[in-house]
Amino acid sequence: MQIKSEKQLKELKNYQPKSCLVSSLYLNTDGSKFSKKEVEVIFKDLVKEKKLEATDDVLQDIKKMELYITQNLDIVKTKGIAIFSCSKENFWQVYELNVSPPNLFVIDKNPYVRPLFVIFSKLYKICTVIFDHRKAKIFEIFGNEIVLKEEIYGETPKKIKIAGYRGYDESRVAEHQINKIMEHYKKIADKLLELYQAENFDVLFIGAKPQDINLFVERLHPYLKKTYGGSFNLPIDAKESDILRKSLELQMKLEIEKEKEIIEQLETHANSETSRMAVVGIKDTIRALNEANVNKLVFNLDFTYAGKYCPSCSYLALKEDKCPKCGTNLIRESNIIFKLIDVAVEKGAEIYPIFYSNTLNQGIGAMLRHKGIMKTTI
Ligand SMILES: [Zn+2]
Repeated sequence: MQIKSEKQLKELKNYQPKSCLVSSLYLNTDGSKFSKKEVEVIFKDLVKEKKLEATDDVLQDIKKMELYITQNLDIVKTKGIAIFSCSKENFWQVYELNVSPPNLFVIDKNPYVRPLFVIFSKLYKICTVIFDHRKAKIFEIFGNEIVLKEEIYGETPKKIKIAGYRGYDESRVAEHQINKIMEHYKKIADKLLELYQAENFDVLFIGAKPQDINLFVERLHPYLKKTYGGSFNLPIDAKESDILRKSLELQMKLEIEKEKEIIEQLETHANSETSRMAVVGIKDTIRALNEANVNKLVFNLDFTYAGKYCPSCSYLALKEDKCPKCGTNLIRESNIIFKLIDVAVEKGAEIYPIFYSNTLNQGIGAMLRHKGIMKTTI
């Protein structure tokens, strides 16, 4: 299944079986990086430790997941999967992902949904309008789905029909033609505004002849001008699959630019002796989180690092055994990154995952609330 709405994720998050635990699995299944066999081995390694102390129900979940991976997983189609299972209650949900999550296996009272929420935070509702001088089609795109929302037929007459008609001269015909086109554009722009107010899409793309685009964009309401993200050249009768592909390509291009900008900002502030308003790398990011000094947590979605956390006060560490704040024994996790994200969210920080541009070399970093951090032992 696909991620469709926040409501769907909240329902999943709130699922709580009465007498057993839920197994949650996230797996990077990017076929351009791994073979099917390798993915199977990664899964086996991931659950190995947990198997030792697992209940029969959880062992059943693991068996079912293993079977799904060998029999149903398509590593060409999906970059990642998330599976939630509680065999005892016949609960089973598989999400196919367009991005690669870190490998995680979590056993808990509820499904572990933080990674799905992180992925959802970067799923945009796209509106794409395709038009020519006579027609227009408005589509809505979410994830991999494209839906035709509106079709508009203008009254713009064909030039051939009207030329020479009842003594119209060429210039009047041309003027009449342009007025009709502008009326048609106005109609499209009004429809788009109506749709924007109802559906609140995040970005607007335009598919049309390059020479027609500026004139059309000028007629958009200021709200829509703000959401306008770019254009491509596609005919009015283009296939929906092509409109979807072009829109997603453009969205990814915009996203990569945004990611690069954020990474550059982070690195500039981290490397500047005078600013010190950012940190990069796992150690300083953990220190900043322990000091509640993170404004925005930036991380590569697939970055993993082993570390420890305090189950009673959420203190984060790498080497320490006991929590210096409350004395509790720290718990070791083979991947601590999503604990960092949980702590950041709890402390009200903004989360910014990097999906597409592999330029955050240290994997994780943070913009700070206050200047600098203390170099404590962690
Ligand atoms: Zn503690």
